[in-house]
Amino acid sequence: MRIQKVLIANRGEIAVRIIRACQELDISTVAIYSEADTTSKHVMMADEAYYVGKASALDSYMNITNVLAVAAEAQVDAIHPGYGFLAENEDFARACEDNGYTFIGPCPSIMSRMSSKIDARETAVQLGVPVAEGNTKPVRSKREAIHTAKRVGYPVLIKPSGGGGGRGLRVARNERELNEFWVMSEREANMSFVDAGVFLEKYMEKARHIEVQILADNYGNVIHLGERDCTIQRRHQKLIEESPSPVLSEELRRQILNAALKLARGIKYNSAGTVEFILDQDQNFYFIEMNTRIQVEHTVSEMVTGVDIVKEQIMVAAGEKLNFSQDDIANKGCSIECRINAEDPEQNFMPSPGLITFYERPAGHSIRVDDYVYSGYELPYFYDSLLSKVIVWGNTREEAMARMKRALNEFNIEGIKTTIPFHQQVLKHPLFIDGDIYTTFAQELVSDLVPLKNAAVK
Ligand code: ADP
Ligand code: ADP
Ligand code: MG
Repeated sequence: MRIQKVLIANRGEIAVRIIRACQELDISTVAIYSEADTTSKHVMMADEAYYVGKASALDSYMNITNVLAVAAEAQVDAIHPGYGFLAENEDFARACEDNGYTFIGPCPSIMSRMSSKIDARETAVQLGVPVAEGNTKPVRSKREAIHTAKRVGYPVLIKPSGGGGGRGLRVARNERELNEFWVMSEREANMSFVDAGVFLEKYMEKARHIEVQILADNYGNVIHLGERDCTIQRRHQKLIEESPSPVLSEELRRQILNAALKLARGIKYNSAGTVEFILDQDQNFYFIEMNTRIQVEHTVSEMVTGVDIVKEQIMVAAGEKLNFSQDDIANKGCSIECRINAEDPEQNFMPSPGLITFYERPAGHSIRVDDYVYSGYELPYFYDSLLSKVIVWGNTREEAMARMKRALNEFNIEGIKTTIPFHQQVLKHPLFIDGDIYTTFAQELVSDLVPLKNAAVK
């Protein structure tokens, strides 16, 4: 089956990214836009653009009825959900298929199994993939939560089963904190997530986040594109990602990649997806979740493998076989990505939307910028603060770091505050340079910060 026209059910840099992939595949593109996005770049770049609702995401990018109404009007034959919004919404994936549109993602039943973190954990256990100690069923009462915490030992992490982007995660270091946080987490999960369950997991101190990019088709071909290290985070949200991880031995890398393949094969996965793990200080790794969609940081894997993951994802959804095998993938060099968010690192990362008076991107050898803004663009405050991703490639990690410093110094954004000064701090920090970091490193760095204003690195 040939896909000829795709609706991109998203906005921002990922909508632009998907439009570009479609253009190279000679597929027509249909953008949707909310009231707040009339001047967004994805709207200008798509072949057609349709209004989808008011500014609030629930009224527009997450409104299944409205999105499908555009699909019908524009007569598309496939829908790409991007990340966030409806990307892991099983009802949406099913509704697409029921209405005759190819959903560019895995089968809805596979998605539903993995989009609930608690079900995904259970699946991993069944398939012999290690998980951290914790619950295998949603926790129904505070008493049960305290019981679990006693069994696995503090600290524990309270997790909403339907969470994402770091939302709703809370570390409880003792029973008092668990009592306090439990109420908040339960209430929040009921309000914010489709899957309302909450569960506990042993919290690993000074851990690293390692994840594996998977590509799989409908014919049982499952390959990996290597791992990504996403240990630089703030509030459990990734800020810097790199591939390969600077800390894995060849043996440990092989074990993690194999565990990810085992999981993807075991569930008959059939799209691009990511299997996420936590690596503890003793080099034990534990499955934490699978993202059944394209991820923000897919770009670093593209840089080291040369594979266009979004194009492959579209072709697989169209029923094509992967036209390469694991042996054809040769990861080369090192790639790093910095997420440029409209946030003020000097004010506790407070959102900083508004008018971008001047915008000039870095350029030059092996630098890629995925963004959606321009000089004179008014950044709306309704959505994610990610405005741009700087991705570099280097023969070695040293070269990639030097190139990233150059790219960040060249980046010129005026009118709003961004995370660029924060990234500059991280890049010159000896522990980051040595790769000797853990998931709370960035947060600690921010708290004892030398003034960010003087952070520009030469
Ligand atoms: P991860 O979810 O592992 O952090 P990414 O780094 O690719 O994956 O982030 C995707 C983005 O999608 C997040 O920054 C967030 O904005 C959004 N997102 C993902 N899942 C959810 C969810 N359940 N609720 C709200 N936003 C989400
Ligand atoms: P999300 O869907 O929000 O991305 P994840 O389960 O992927 O949720 O966890 C997000 C982040 O929280 C991880 O990248 C890691 O930093 C931290 N985290 C998750 N589980 C654990 C754990 N068991 N121990 C320590 N840190 C964890
Ligand atoms: Mg995650």
